[in-house]
Amino acid sequence: KSRWSEVTMAPADPILGVAVAYNADPSPKKVNLGIGAYRDSEGKPLVLQCVREAEKRIANDEALNKEYLPVQGFDRFLKITPQIIFGKDSPAVVEGRVAVCQSLSGTGALRIAAEFIAMYNPGTMVYISNPSWGNHHTIFKKAGLKYLNKTMGLDFDGMVADLSAAPRGSTFVLHTVAHNPTGVDPSQDQWKKLADVCQEAIFDTAYQGYASGDLERDAWAVRYFANTRGLELMVTQSYSKNFGLYGERIGALNVAVKSKDTAAKISSQLKGIVRPMYSNPQLHGARLVTWVMEDPALKALWEKELKEMSDRITEMRSSLVAALVEINCPPPNANFRNWNHITSQIGMFAFTGLSEKHCSLLTGKHHIYCTKNGRFSMAGVNPSNVKYIAAAMKDAIN
Ligand code: PMP
Repeated sequence: KSRWSEVTMAPADPILGVAVAYNADPSPKKVNLGIGAYRDSEGKPLVLQCVREAEKRIANDEALNKEYLPVQGFDRFLKITPQIIFGKDSPAVVEGRVAVCQSLSGTGALRIAAEFIAMYNPGTMVYISNPSWGNHHTIFKKAGLKYLNKTMGLDFDGMVADLSAAPRGSTFVLHTVAHNPTGVDPSQDQWKKLADVCQEAIFDTAYQGYASGDLERDAWAVRYFANTRGLELMVTQSYSKNFGLYGERIGALNVAVKSKDTAAKISSQLKGIVRPMYSNPQLHGARLVTWVMEDPALKALWEKELKEMSDRITEMRSSLVAALVEINCPPPNANFRNWNHITSQIGMFAFTGLSEKHCSLLTGKHHIYCTKNGRFSMAGVNPSNVKYIAAAMKDAIN
């Protein structure tokens, strides 16, 4: 008898499972609206030119070797990554009050944050929006936070009430920009009110530059909390989407605190978490983003390409709504009067309002793959498939 014979099959991940099903479908008509990864207007994955250029420079530099990085990561990356999110002139950055640790992208940063919180405040209640990115729950073993009303708008009063009533010492996972899965963010005025009631926050930043096409604008909430209000907070950064570096696993955890001395102590503890987990992070992704972010010309190219990706997605939102209107597709349910929510949402995803039944018809009958909650990755929409998608949506609803 095997030592492992008691092991049962784990359920498939709800998001990654969609990709598996898509890959197995032989239909030439198939469309993947499940995966949160950019596709160009021909439906192909994209490697940014700024990344290609950085890759060439790295490959041609024979002075570079492949030694281990320090536990906390590549020093030049650790210096520049907080500047991207907090801003170059951020008092926390300038005064050295941010503890930074390179991570295995956004997921890894969240995992280190969770370990750190559990180490010092084991009973902490972590509030996560409802709905949220599914992995947040498994990473934090959450509590629930009201977030949406039935029309997919932000239930702001409910959110403020929940934040205010939270027990002392709670922490809140906030999506810095381009909320996943809804594409609905608080307004600047709403963020200001949230800063009044929020005790501690983790700003999960997976889409900086993706929402508005502008790195600075998409960092507004973090900069307001940290720079304007001087609040202590954590920021997890991912360079998966905004650099198209999904497989390189590059990101960071930033802990902004009130003193340089505390930041140094936190840094040392973060190393203590990383060392027994995976010893030290990967090198290539850290070099790539550092090479781009440090070089003004490459950084400008990155920002241009980021804007192009963001613009294409925004365009596809309008095209999808236009295609739905053209064929008189009724709204997904009685809570909606039209499809305008698709164009008012931002970021990578559209939270369409389609039910689980609609989604299974889309997949079963039309080979269109999306998560069961009606979330479409808009990056999968392109001029060649947008009408097909709209027609299938109408068929599923009717
Ligand atoms: N947070 C959110 C909200 C996300 O949508 C994602 C990616 N889907 C991540 C974090 C982490 O992604 P990665 O680990 O690739 O950086």
